[in-house]
Amino acid sequence: MLNAIKKCWSPGVTGSTLGQRRQVELGNQLGLFGALATFPYQLFYFFYDFDFYRSVFIVNLVFVSAYLSVLLLNYLSRYSTAKKLLLVNACIQIFVITWFISAGAGVHLFYFCLASVLVFLFNNLRLRTYISLMALFCALYVTAHFLFSPALAITPVPLPWVNIMYGVSVICVLSLLGGLLYLLRQQIDAAEDELTLNNHYFEALSNTDALTGLPNRRMLDEAFEREWERLTRQPGTLSVIMCDVDYFKQVNDHYGHDGGDRCLQRIATELESLASRTSDLVARYGGEEFAFVLPSTGEQVCKAARALGIPNPGASSGFITVSIGIASIDVPDGGNIDAKGSARLLKRADQALYQAKTNGRDQVVFLPYPHAYTSTGQ
Ligand code: GH3
Ligand code: MG
Ligand code: MG
Repeated sequence: MLNAIKKCWSPGVTGSTLGQRRQVELGNQLGLFGALATFPYQLFYFFYDFDFYRSVFIVNLVFVSAYLSVLLLNYLSRYSTAKKLLLVNACIQIFVITWFISAGAGVHLFYFCLASVLVFLFNNLRLRTYISLMALFCALYVTAHFLFSPALAITPVPLPWVNIMYGVSVICVLSLLGGLLYLLRQQIDAAEDELTLNNHYFEALSNTDALTGLPNRRMLDEAFEREWERLTRQPGTLSVIMCDVDYFKQVNDHYGHDGGDRCLQRIATELESLASRTSDLVARYGGEEFAFVLPSTGEQVCKAARALGIPNPGASSGFITVSIGIASIDVPDGGNIDAKGSARLLKRADQALYQAKTNGRDQVVFLPYPHAYTSTGQ
């Protein structure tokens, strides 16, 4: 049922962009509404006294066909012409019909509808044009309201019909405004949901390394800063493990870049399973380097890499090994650390890794955080 109704305002919608589609839909909806809203008035003219109201009935038929042409123009992709026709037709119809049957019927209330939808109907409406059109609506409304009294009407509507017409006008105006605002609210909700979903997706994307699926350096830095900040508030230990694949260049040289990639993926999976505690984080630090915050021990990491048994012709053992550099800080009760000292701990882990490399690789070197940077309070 709803789909059948939606089909009514679909002409010209296919193939256009989302923003354009909304505008075309709105143009079609307003075109249909204009034609439908005229219908009850036409019924009155036709059945009450067709001879007397013949002229206003025929004029209205012209306006209705113009409203329906809006859908045809949209179907023919003449979007801009369709919108202009809609606006001009509605402006003139409201004015002319009020002139025919007097302001007592409330037809000029429809100017409120035009003023409300204008901004949604046109994209990038210049402020000056917008203000001019609003001024035009005001002028037309005020003129129609004060000039077209029942005494001056060409085809006046007698009581109680004029009051009934006023009621119909009010109902039509309010239901159009309510309906349009409801649709707009729905679109805003849908757009907000989409935006939230996209934000989550991009956030996950910006924190993940594409090759290994591990958190990337950016996320590691954030987690590390958080842990460091926690240490500034309460005593505890924080360790960083830097892990670098030994002779990885030779893996690439021997098995190609794709072979190297697969090797990094397998190492990443293994390291991830080691950082299983919820507070642990393992990340791809860059290239063939990985880093842990609050991790398992360095020896475990070395052993796990060796146990993978991935061939590496460049290594003396013939298999993939890793070198590990660990730096750790132990803040005792009442101890203070520099709030901005986290980078020093990372640097320390890097120095430890460098030592592990120069000592012959496939080993762990531990360096404590330089004591000078911690102090014990009273
Ligand atoms: P060392 O034992 O001293 O660490 O020697 P190494 O060969 O591992 O170190 P080096 O830094 O000379 O080489 C690292 C290599 O890692 C060079 C670079 O091409 C490769 N590499 C970095 N990122 C990737 C990647 O994403 N995929 C692949 N396949 N190789 C990468
Ligand atoms: Mg290396
Ligand atoms: Mg390296």
